Amino acid sequence: GPLIGVLALQGDVREHLAALEESGARATAVRRPAELSEVDGLVLPGGESTTMSRLLDIFELLTPLRERIAAGMPAYGSCAGMILLASKVLDGREDQHQLGGLDMIVRRNAFGRQVDSFEEDLEFTGVSDVGDGGPVHAVFIRAPWVESASPQVEVLARVSDDPEVPGGEVAAGRIVAVRQGSVLATAFHPELTGDTRVHRLFVEMVEGKP
Ligand code: GLN
Repeated sequence: GPLIGVLALQGDVREHLAALEESGARATAVRRPAELSEVDGLVLPGGESTTMSRLLDIFELLTPLRERIAAGMPAYGSCAGMILLASKVLDGREDQHQLGGLDMIVRRNAFGRQVDSFEEDLEFTGVSDVGDGGPVHAVFIRAPWVESASPQVEVLARVSDDPEVPGGEVAAGRIVAVRQGSVLATAFHPELTGDTRVHRLFVEMVEGKP
């Protein structure tokens, strides 16, 4: 399988390494520019986007990572990773770095600060509708949502209009999974559920399957 890195500055790195291995990739932690240059694709894990942004600077990964993403390296961001890959963030820190790759605006901690977490079964285009799939169980932890996206960004999943979703009416139908070319992102954490379908989709993207 392809060699896929997991950005290992902070966040839930081990879970992504395991999910990638289970999905047929060779997985490796990436902390240095030399390690980044060896991988065929990169996962940006969940964690804290402001901290990861600072560590990208300190580990001198910010520029090489921006360059590889601009050059078309496949990337998958989960939660904080989605925030990093967006072109713009609302409710972020002013000095927070954006890697680009997804032409969209995300809102950090969008579902409300009082509620840390919720879970929902989602229809996920290209995942829940493949084979004998079924809905994807999505775990949201202080998650962002996509506030707005350019037409080049393909919407793959939205939260329902269930009143149980924290944030209520303003949260209904918000975009929580997207793809733009070789860049994939989810506001939730498939690495925590044992369902590897999202990671399998990413491995296929790295392998160059459409
Ligand atoms: N709230 C975090 C941030 O702003 C993201 C949370 C997560 O990755 N689970 O980066």
